Amino acid sequence: MLETLKTTFGFSAFRSFQEEIISHILEKRDVFAVMPTGGGKSLCYQLPAKLMEGTVVVVSPLISLMKDQVDAARENGIKAAYINSSLGFEESRDIIQKLREHRLEMLYIAPERFSIDSFFNLLKNIPISLFAIDEAHCISEWGHDFRPDYLNLSGLRVHFPGVPIGAFTATATMKVQQDVTEKLGLKSPFQVRASFNRPNLFYRVEKKQDVETQVMGFLAEHRNEPGIIYRTTRKSVEELAFFLTANGIKASCYHAGLDQEERKRSQDAFNNDEIQVMVATIAFGMGIDKSNVRFIIHADLPKNIEGYYQETGRAGRDGEKAHCLLLFGRGDIPKIRYFLDRIENDTERSSAVNKLNQITRYASQYVCRRKQLLAYFGETYGEEKCNTCDICISNLKSMEITTDAQMIMSAIIRSGERFGAGHIIDIVRGADTKRIRECGHDRLKTYRIGKNKEKSHWRFIVDELLAKGLILQEGDRYPVLKMSKTGLEVLFGREKAFAVIKEVTETTSPSGNEIEVHQELFERLKILRKKLAQEHHVPPYIIFSDRALHEMASYFPADPGSFLKVAGVGEKKLNTYGAAFISEINAYIKEHPYIRIPERPVQKQELKKKKGETVDISLELFYQGFSVDEIAQKRGLAVSTIAGHLEQSILMGYEVDITRLVDPGKLSMIREVMVRYDTWHLTPVVEYFDGEVSFEEARFVRAWIKKEEGNPG
Ligand code: ADP
Ligand code: ZN
Repeated sequence: MLETLKTTFGFSAFRSFQEEIISHILEKRDVFAVMPTGGGKSLCYQLPAKLMEGTVVVVSPLISLMKDQVDAARENGIKAAYINSSLGFEESRDIIQKLREHRLEMLYIAPERFSIDSFFNLLKNIPISLFAIDEAHCISEWGHDFRPDYLNLSGLRVHFPGVPIGAFTATATMKVQQDVTEKLGLKSPFQVRASFNRPNLFYRVEKKQDVETQVMGFLAEHRNEPGIIYRTTRKSVEELAFFLTANGIKASCYHAGLDQEERKRSQDAFNNDEIQVMVATIAFGMGIDKSNVRFIIHADLPKNIEGYYQETGRAGRDGEKAHCLLLFGRGDIPKIRYFLDRIENDTERSSAVNKLNQITRYASQYVCRRKQLLAYFGETYGEEKCNTCDICISNLKSMEITTDAQMIMSAIIRSGERFGAGHIIDIVRGADTKRIRECGHDRLKTYRIGKNKEKSHWRFIVDELLAKGLILQEGDRYPVLKMSKTGLEVLFGREKAFAVIKEVTETTSPSGNEIEVHQELFERLKILRKKLAQEHHVPPYIIFSDRALHEMASYFPADPGSFLKVAGVGEKKLNTYGAAFISEINAYIKEHPYIRIPERPVQKQELKKKKGETVDISLELFYQGFSVDEIAQKRGLAVSTIAGHLEQSILMGYEVDITRLVDPGKLSMIREVMVRYDTWHLTPVVEYFDGEVSFEEARFVRAWIKKEEGNPG
């Protein structure tokens, strides 16, 4: 498995759960896996395609995604094809022919095909190694993406009882998981729920003031980096895209109001790095497979945390750092409320309102953003600080604002709790507006009481009071400010009010690779990548990821051997693109004779960590009382592998009850032989006992002696 990972995909270590999932598939066990976007789900069914007899059939809902995935698989030298409605009759026929001749390792297919009986019959005559169901949550009516076509897939288990089914998705509540398992007829599937943590994403929330200025400021720090800006309405999408273009940014837009042709053109331009920024409504979604999206800006408040998490999840799929910025203005809340309040079903409406409150809290609380996001998915984030969100890298300072709070509150009460924030601030600052005069608010005692402070200061105070629930905002179209019970305590001077100020202390960036990247070479490699992409008719990121280019611009792999070490470079890619990139790198080295070529850190680190995780799982199961054989069976790993895990645990000093592994009588016999012959070698010991002592037992005893006594003699 590891070898195929390297030679075909060019990766040196598995990501979390990939190894376990793949080994179960190889043993023909069903799998249900929930892994976040970018978690590496496709590898879980692409790698088996290389190792198993027959064809892996992948069911995938989106035509655009299918083509991308097939392109990517082919670039890695996997014989893959797809059948969907975009193909002509002849093309489909050719593919079916190939399928019949067993010349395909993977076939991607749209779910509606399975509504045709003849299609089942066709597949029945072909050796199939696995059915992989992508976006498996689409089969459940409980999910948010139900697709009736997916129901056809219930036939798979009936027609192909012996073929394993792997269900993959990035979102599934427990309820959906159960439903999917039932509908697909999965038989005690190996289940995985990976962590939703995305360590390479940096989360930041800023007060929304002036979207255009804020976006331009952000882009100035992220020159030439591709990213997506989400806005709520089609109009705001178009206006922002227009504004950016007018200011020299290559931007385009995407929303459901554009016709299919325009949407496709826009998306292709983004995929091919022809435009930098895509301004879009959330209609721009599932079809994004681009791995080098470097930032996501939400210029308006999303409706709920699920949506926010999914949208930000589109950044940094290549594992390189990426930024997620949310511009949060309280003015967005009533706009969303306006729509939510029109939901007819009571439970649905209150659940939607509840979700809106959650995302509002996410944006306004001074709590680690990562912690909050993970908590939403029922996960606890173990560390105290993530150091990759605005809260964790800021100094939080508390400031008393009781007097200012009382001024605002008094204006609210004296004007009858019937006005919005803008007007209340006008009163406090003593603005001379028509509305103030008409209402006679210039005669209020609080009029002009706060004239010497800026409007933005008062906006800040109002926001803080709202965040703390000291005042309330009610109504949707024309929201008005009202007092809360706790707020009255402050107004009457019985309680103090405090605001928290966020002072950014350090500009830590998200974890990613910290090697120095030669920017000029990186840009040159990007140009080369784009040129080759055009020639080969694939998007640039399918040729090499940004991460791969970063590595090239850091370690200068100038010969095939070192080029193979780059993440994502397998044999096929080395053969297809290696020469072009190597010669570009060599040219750069020649032009810069004094550059220092750094030593590549040994990749073992990653492997070791992976190993650590998997050792931990085995040890945990051992603690739960399972035997070595049971653990091996449960994990779908060889007995010798589990024995290795426990051996390592003993050596690392974990409490391992040796008597559960080796009978005490045997233990002392084995120990005696090892001591007598002064050897750590297992074979002579096992041979000495002539079948009475297993290799594993000898291994455990050896580790135990090493730990307990230090040496055999
Ligand atoms: P998902 O389908 O779960 O959203 P993908 O399968 O698209 O995720 O994988 C996301 C990215 O991670 C891809 O660029 C892929 O090449 C990369 N990737 C997958 N597995 C590994 C691995 N073991 N090591 C390094 N990169 C990987
Ligand atoms: Zn944090």
